[in-house]
Amino acid sequence: MYCSKCGVENADGSQFCNKCGAAIGQSVPETNNDALKVQIKETGQMIKGSFIISIVSFILLIVCIANIGPGGVRGNVDDVMIIIVLFVFLIASFALGFYNWFKKEKLDKKLK
Ligand SMILES: [Zn+2]
Repeated sequence: MYCSKCGVENADGSQFCNKCGAAIGQSVPETNNDALKVQIKETGQMIKGSFIISIVSFILLIVCIANIGPGGVRGNVDDVMIIIVLFVFLIASFALGFYNWFKKEKLDKKLK
């Protein structure tokens, strides 16, 4: 266990630093803050990933609809299935993105 003030190593379970006398337990809130920061960073990456998936799904959906639309050449059941799957993907990734966005807002408030 290292002292958060002077950096000297102390025996595990010590309450005060052998060198400077600072309370070693004081480093606990900082550790919690670091964990929160990591959580915020991870949530931010989840948001990015979710929105990238939703954008890709949206583009694929447009391409598929353009292909089988009234002016399109094809129009069988498989194409309709692909569109339904892409639509579900789009909604799900978009919802996940927003869910994580709200989660991040909450975590940001907790940090302040
Ligand atoms: Zn110390």
